Formats: sequence, structure tokens, C-alpha cells
Amino acid sequence: MAQPSVAPTATAEISSIPLRQIAPWALFFGLVALLVLFFVSTDQGATSVISGTAIHEWVHDGRHLLGYPCH
Ligand SMILES: [Zn+2]
Repeated sequence: MAQPSVAPTATAEISSIPLRQIAPWALFFGLVALLVLFFVSTDQGATSVISGTAIHEWVHDGRHLLGYPCH
């Protein structure tokens, strides 16, 4: 068997994403994550933004998954 004499010439370029483009999205998703974490961990506890048990029931499994005291 003969070895192929032509070496592959195609190269893949990985473009970098500037920090200035990522920073607003990172801040936005960070704030959304904090809001979700607040509703999972704190709401329906000592404080309650929305009255009723809808939020509690909605995030109940997440609360147990993350180990927050529930019932
Ligand atoms: Zn529970």
C-alpha cells in the first residue's frame, strides 16, 4: 500500500469573540440566573414577592435538588 502523497491543506480557523461583545450578554444572563435563584431559594420563605403557592410549586423540585429547606 502506498502512502498518500498529498497532505491535507484545509485548516480550520477558530475566531475569537471579543469581550466587549460577550459582556452585555454575560451580565444579562447573570442577572436572569440570580432572579431564578432568588425564586428557587428565597421566595415563599421569609419573603414573598407574589402571594400564593404558585411560585413555590413551580420551583419545588429545583428547591429540593439544590438542598434548600422546604418542608
Ligand atoms: Zn418540598
